[in-house]
Amino acid sequence: MSSASPVLLGGVEAGGTKFVCVVGTGIDGLRTECRIPTTTPAETLGEVVRFFADASRVHGPLGAIGVGSFGPVDLHASSPTFGCITATPKPGWSGADLVGTFGRELGVPVGFDTDVNAAALGEWRHGAARGLDSFVYLTVGTGIGGGGLAAGRLLHGLVHPEMGHLRVPHDHAADPFPGVCPFHGDCLEGLASGPAMAARWGTAAETLDAGHPAWALEARYLALALQNIVCTLSPERVVIGGGVMAQPALLPRVRRELATLLNGYVQAPEVLHHMDEYVVAPVLGDRAGVAGALVLAAAQLPPGLGGVAPFI
Ligand code: ADP
Ligand code: ZN
Repeated sequence: MSSASPVLLGGVEAGGTKFVCVVGTGIDGLRTECRIPTTTPAETLGEVVRFFADASRVHGPLGAIGVGSFGPVDLHASSPTFGCITATPKPGWSGADLVGTFGRELGVPVGFDTDVNAAALGEWRHGAARGLDSFVYLTVGTGIGGGGLAAGRLLHGLVHPEMGHLRVPHDHAADPFPGVCPFHGDCLEGLASGPAMAARWGTAAETLDAGHPAWALEARYLALALQNIVCTLSPERVVIGGGVMAQPALLPRVRRELATLLNGYVQAPEVLHHMDEYVVAPVLGDRAGVAGALVLAAAQLPPGLGGVAPFI
């Protein structure tokens, strides 16, 4: 399967600190790219529109744009606030209309999903989840988020999954840290995000060496969450990335803990005998988001131009 569309596409990874914008026929066929700081919606979205307008003057018209956005976002096509960021704590951004602004200003169809689902799509098309019908992509960084595909379709629902806010058993005697989630305290994100580690240990996660007890605890929490995810969604693979996973000792520990927790119950060779290939690192690193945004864009094209989107 060729990953490139014959049509020029735009991709946006809309993050809380920056918007990464690309133009190309796919992640392997980029023509131009830019990073725009996330300030106010008027300023940032205005810059994004200007970038795409300039790029299409230089490189040719865009067939569609895809956006993977920080959230929470409204993904319901029939909703009056479809394509908007909803109740974000990020000042000024609640109600920001990404799809409406880009569609109106640039006159192209706009594909839209969460930043995590976009990164998951990038890994599905080009990376660690290639060819799978069901997988989960988990990112462990400033926050914890999960997305992916179930039965060949992106994980959507009433809103969208919020796997970072799963409850995991919290042994207060072993770990008296109360957690940092402003909504739940000691949910997964509250206990195991990068900021949670920094607050618990008094130093940034990247300064904790591989032998520090922080990593055994971190692996335990992530494996507890993965047991819940594996038992709920039955993914064919779990791709787990984000800044915290840059500690090389962590992923092997998570695999070992998960195998111990599952205790032979999930009767699949992938889980029983091939944990190294079942819980894996992403392949695309920080390119997964824009790669997936371009896949969301391609999904907006008519079928003859590459717009086959079984995953929507
Ligand atoms: P974001 O979630 O904001 O997109 P990242 O995925 O890069 O960003 O995650 C940032 C978090 O990752 C920070 O809390 C940081 O402390 C942590 N982090 C960054 N590098 C490392 C590292 N080498 N080891 C462990 N944690 C790290
Ligand atoms: Zn929470």
